[in-house]
This record gives sequence, structure tokens and C-alpha cells, in this order.
Amino acid sequence: MQINQKKFLCLSLDGASWSGFDFLMKERTLPVITSLVNSGSYGSLHCMLPTFTYPNWASFWTGENPSRQGIFAFNDIGISRGLLRKVDWTSLKSPTWLEQISNNGFKIISIHAPLTLPPPQINGFVIADQHTITTEDFIYPPDFAGILKTRFKELHLPKAEQFFPHGGFKDSSDIDKFIEDQIWSIKQTKELAEYMLTECSWNVAIIHLFATDPLQHALWHLIDPRHPGFEIEGHNKVVKFFKELDSIIGHLIKIANPTAKLVFSSHGFVSTKRIFNISRALAEAGISRRRLFTRKIVKPENILLDHKALYIQNKKFGNGDTANKIIRAFERVRDPESGSLVIKKAWHARELYDGFRQDGWDVVILEFNEGYTSRNGDAESPILSDLLKPGKDYLIGTHTQTGVWILSGEGIITQPGFDASITDLPPTILTYLGQKVPTRMDGKVLPVFL
Ligand SMILES: [Zn+2]
Repeated sequence: MQINQKKFLCLSLDGASWSGFDFLMKERTLPVITSLVNSGSYGSLHCMLPTFTYPNWASFWTGENPSRQGIFAFNDIGISRGLLRKVDWTSLKSPTWLEQISNNGFKIISIHAPLTLPPPQINGFVIADQHTITTEDFIYPPDFAGILKTRFKELHLPKAEQFFPHGGFKDSSDIDKFIEDQIWSIKQTKELAEYMLTECSWNVAIIHLFATDPLQHALWHLIDPRHPGFEIEGHNKVVKFFKELDSIIGHLIKIANPTAKLVFSSHGFVSTKRIFNISRALAEAGISRRRLFTRKIVKPENILLDHKALYIQNKKFGNGDTANKIIRAFERVRDPESGSLVIKKAWHARELYDGFRQDGWDVVILEFNEGYTSRNGDAESPILSDLLKPGKDYLIGTHTQTGVWILSGEGIITQPGFDASITDLPPTILTYLGQKVPTRMDGKVLPVFL
């Protein structure tokens, strides 16, 4: 097949999980997803630790583990001149398959895909992920911005924790408004995608729908029927969102008319048990940090906290001693209510993932037992949060390592329940496109082709 005969559509649903989708599919809320599942190969997607979007999208773009591609959480530890900054496209330490196919003549559309800021200068059109940073230069090529401005007066850019009302949900009308806002967000992305899929010439289109993530953080108790806070009236409200999401997926597939389509997520969701306060845990372990992460300045004595990762400058502390001390202390912390351990394992990144490239740093990655998550926190607050209140707090759902993947189309077999790793997706996409799979990639080509 010639390049121009292939059309590969990649739809990313931030944080989609079978644990939520199974129930929604059973009650017929997701007819399009159900038909994709019935006509293609699908399964659980084993994602990278820590369970955040950025390290996982870095692995999706490069086919490599976080030690190799260099992104562990939200901040870049490839620090230059002592300044700490958010991760972006320039933080990637390995080549991407996006650039590979672009160099080989494929035309690409990328809409809000994580890490695409500054937008990579590829053969095609990029509307960056506006999640990390504020800048005007989020569209490539730059003159495409003018075209979009005439078509869309204002471009909707999905934001982290978008639309959470300040001070929390006060009553159910706040929740109604929040759900409407998430529906509005995915509709905006749909409008933009519809325009670009029809007006731009393309072979590979990547579209990221972000609102599933904030919605599931705030309202997981209304999605998962096993949650003690589940109630049917609230559930019917979130069903409205998922029906809209499903119909948008169907609509985009219809418009794009791809030869193959991939639906995936870079992490899943579960009910939150409690939130672990890293700053307090460090203080209790007798480890002091002389500079705080929030001051953005990195000095040799720093330990930087990045949610489920810690970066320790080991030239000062020497050969992992501080990291080992942190690991031993953190792995002992128990939830006083259940008595169970909060952290399943605290890893040296260099032991968890081979090819570690952060010279002069130890990176500790926290693998939590299911339902526990962390905040950088402060040393005065309790080490574990109180139980969160469904309908009031925002972190009722938290990330797990298990996402979803569904691949269907011409030449793709029907195969249920096939588990894959997120690093398997790039070699599989490249193979579908008839491209060479670089040997540096960690994943394998999924056995999905006829
Ligand atoms: Zn999230």
C-alpha cells in the first residue's frame, strides 16, 4: 500500500479505564467503543511508572522507558544552568516516531497531544498541548494560526484541572456545571478536529481528549458502581458526558474514514483511598531539603519533589545514600485505618528502567498500592490525608498503571483481552504504516495483523 492510501487515526482518551468502561458498556452508554472492541483487538495497556500522562506520552512518542526518554513526571531534570522547568517536547532525550514518519513523507495532524509544545516542526499541522505552559506559539506551522483564527474566534485549550470551581463543589449545581464544562471541552476539541480532518490532507491524525481526566478525578464515585459514594441520579449525569464522548468518537471516525484507528489511554483510574504527603514523610525520616521545589532554583543540596517521583542530586549526597534512606522510610508507611502499606515499592529509576541517563541524579519513583497517591505537600500537614468526600473533593479518583487500547481496521484481527505495554504502540503503529521499527524501542510489535 502506498503512503497516501493509509489513514491512521489515533484517539487518546485521557485516563480511560476498563474498570469504568466495562460498566458503561454494559448499560449501553458507549455503543461506538463497544463496536470498536467487537471489531478489533483490544486489552489492558500496561503503562509506565509513575502513572502520569507525561512520562507515558514520552514513552508513546519514543517507544522507550522513562530512564531512556528522560521524563518521569511533570518537571524536567535535564536541568540547564540550575533552572527547573516543566517538561515539554524539548525534554525528550530520544527521537520520536512522529518525526520519523514525518521525514518519510507522511502528513500528520496532531491536536492537543501531550508534550507537543513547542509544536514539533513536522510535515503537517500541530495544535500543541497547552497543558503545561502559556505561550502564543502553540500552532505549527505559524501561518495556520491565522486560518484557525478566522474559523474559530477563540481556540479552546484544555487545561489541567479545568473548570474545578474555586473552593470546591458546594452543591450539586456546581457538579452539574462542572460536567457541562467537560462536555463543552470535548465538543470544542471535536469542532477543531472535524475542521482539520476535512480541510487538511493527512495520513496520521492524533487527537487527545483531555476532559476524561478531570471528570474522573472529581466524579469517579459516580462512574464506578463499586464505590460507596455511587448513586444513580449522579451516575445518570456523568452518563451524559460519556454518551457525548462516545458519539464524538463515532463522529470523528466517520469523518476521518481511516483505514485503521487506535483508541488508547496513558493511565487508568481507581477510587482514591488516601493521599500521601511526601514533604511530611521526608521530615519524619529526618531528611531535610534546604531548597524547596517551588523556588524553581536547583542547588546541589536539593531534593526535588515531583508528585510520585523525587530527584536527588547525588554528587552532593553521594552514591544513592539519601535515595536509599528515602526508599526505606517510605516503604514502611502504613494506612492507620487498614494497616496496609501505602507504597508497594519505591524504586531507584535506574533499577526499574534500564538505560538511565540522568548523570549526577538519583531518581526515586513511587509505586503506590492501589488507590493511594501523593502530593508534594508540606512538612506540617499529616502524612496521610483524611478520607476524601465524594461530591466535595476533587481527587475521588486517582491514576492507575492500567490504561486501555483498542485497535481496529483493515488488516487488523479481532482479538479480545490482549494485554500490551504502552511502548508496544509505537512499533505497532510503525509496522502498520510500513515503516522500520528502530531497534532502540523497548516495545514489540503487537500480533494484531492478518
Ligand atoms: Zn489525572
